[in-house]
Amino acid sequence: MFIDIKSNDGGRGEPYSDVCVSCQRLIEPHHSTEHIDFQTGDEKLTKLNGIYHAKCAVPYLSIKRALDMMNRMIG
Ligand SMILES: [Zn+2]
Repeated sequence: MFIDIKSNDGGRGEPYSDVCVSCQRLIEPHHSTEHIDFQTGDEKLTKLNGIYHAKCAVPYLSIKRALDMMNRMIG
């Protein structure tokens, strides 16, 4: 599935700005953030790797925790 993330409606043009993977909104310097890095070969999950607002990251962090737990049981 193709998702266009190049929408320019913010128009702020700051090259170093980060965009939240979950809500696609700009992450301001004063926002608290989480960096999520799925250590898995699953392409669907590695696409979710990146920076999130702390509150947007919550559901993903619980997925990650569950996966880490499974990996530990398998390995
Ligand atoms: Zn967000």
